[in-house]
Amino acid sequence: MTKRDYYEVLGVSKNASKEEIRKAYRKLAMQYHPDRNPGDKEAEEKFKEAAEAYEVLSDDSKRAKYDRFGHEGLHGQGFQGFTDINDIFSHFSDIFGGAFGGGSIFDDFFGGGQSRQTHRRRSAAMGTPGSDLKIDLKLTLEEIATGTTKKIKIKRYNKCSVCGGTGAKDPNSFKTCPVCGGSGEVRQVSRSIFGQFVNITPCPNCNGTGRIIADPCPACSGEGRIYGDATIKISVPAGVTEGSYMTIRGEGNAGKNGGASGDVIVVFHELPHEYFLRDGDNIIYDLFLSFPEVTLGAEVEVPTLKSKAKLKIAAGTQPGKFLKMRDKGIQHLHSHGAGDQLVRINIYVPKKVNSEEKDLLKKLQAMPNIKVPS
Ligand SMILES: [Zn+2]
Ligand SMILES: [Zn+2]
Repeated sequence: MTKRDYYEVLGVSKNASKEEIRKAYRKLAMQYHPDRNPGDKEAEEKFKEAAEAYEVLSDDSKRAKYDRFGHEGLHGQGFQGFTDINDIFSHFSDIFGGAFGGGSIFDDFFGGGQSRQTHRRRSAAMGTPGSDLKIDLKLTLEEIATGTTKKIKIKRYNKCSVCGGTGAKDPNSFKTCPVCGGSGEVRQVSRSIFGQFVNITPCPNCNGTGRIIADPCPACSGEGRIYGDATIKISVPAGVTEGSYMTIRGEGNAGKNGGASGDVIVVFHELPHEYFLRDGDNIIYDLFLSFPEVTLGAEVEVPTLKSKAKLKIAAGTQPGKFLKMRDKGIQHLHSHGAGDQLVRINIYVPKKVNSEEKDLLKKLQAMPNIKVPS
């Protein structure tokens, strides 16, 4: 097996920058990713080839050796090649993991994290696992304060109810896989200058099940799943914050041919509130009072997250002071109890007054207790 030039593999020039190399690799990894090309041996090889090229060209010292001596230069430098796809995932977890951030195609594509995906791939008795779905859920402060339950309509692959997910027309529609003879495994021996690898991998023809469908289910064309609507129930705990998320196991895309379902990842978003500002589990309410009210004291009604409450304002209350309404805030997420509602005292200053009010204010201004002390 002669190796292709690594620059040629990634389709970059000899003096490509690290960023160009990274971008080129990312593109190829997406194109040839095994989840997108199930059972496609050639795509798998291309995927591995690209990973190997990236491994070398992204490392300054390996790249320098490769530039000088070619493939031979890497012999004995700790580069082992990749024996299977899972190796590639664990090796480049920085690329496949969180590096792509939210909202990109990679979210759905690479699932919530490689270790989980890998685990699922290995533990699924048959079929190909389904991918995860990400949902953005907007919540009012009232909903966050006490927690809530939401029913949400989503689009996803659902297990085919006609064949029960197998993809076969009936239980007699299977035959033994001719590629692996029913064992579900294939052995590959590959030789390179790095040594010899014996590789036992799931049979790509039957996806490791040992049997193939001779007569596919007409409803799902043999895939075992159908794209359509689904309603899921989300139990939102009290106290969640903007950007935090929860995972609902098994509610994502159904796998192919009975493979395990992916998860739904619900990301919480907090809608702005008409009156309240959130500060951790406390909420802040700005209360406006007239000068006579704060001076003489008053009893006023203020809104709360649940309804309304009466609040006593002591005579001489100063602007900027916070009055605490205990436990009227947001329930703590990880412990008992709740935050407080903090009422901030503001003084309402009229922009317009009539002549009578003007006269009174002028009189008042001269009084000894009203003047600002000098
Ligand atoms: Zn079906
Ligand atoms: Zn097979």
